[in-house]
Amino acid sequence: MISYGVSIVRACSDCGSEMTCDLAQRIVNDRLHWTAWCHCPHCGSAEETFGWDDTPAEIRDALVAGCGLARLTVEGTTGPGRVALLKVFRDAGASLPEAQTAAQRAVTTGIEGTRVELELLTQRLERSTITAIVTGGDRC
Ligand SMILES: [Zn+2]
Repeated sequence: MISYGVSIVRACSDCGSEMTCDLAQRIVNDRLHWTAWCHCPHCGSAEETFGWDDTPAEIRDALVAGCGLARLTVEGTTGPGRVALLKVFRDAGASLPEAQTAAQRAVTTGIEGTRVELELLTQRLERSTITAIVTGGDRC
């Protein structure tokens, strides 16, 4: 299973001491699943939040800070391949202009995101027989 996570420290909402939070993203059944599990060693307070698809900015930023930014590039996709590329982004919920921007970025500068987000995109691209390369984002 592809999973990347980091631990951060933040103030406990109950006692104000430092609480440890384990943040992670993973791929589950072709979807992105994120979790944040926080535990305070001082007062025992614990909280867990999780969700699908869109990761809250606070958690995503911490993952990027801890793991680094990953980059996905697709090489040499033109003509019919470009249509397949657009379809992958459209199927993921992007509008046509958004899909065009993402496809253009994929074949030029690369798409940036967390490692898990881009591994998920790679899996979807591979099902459309598009080969993508992901680099970075794996320092954690
Ligand atoms: Zn506490």
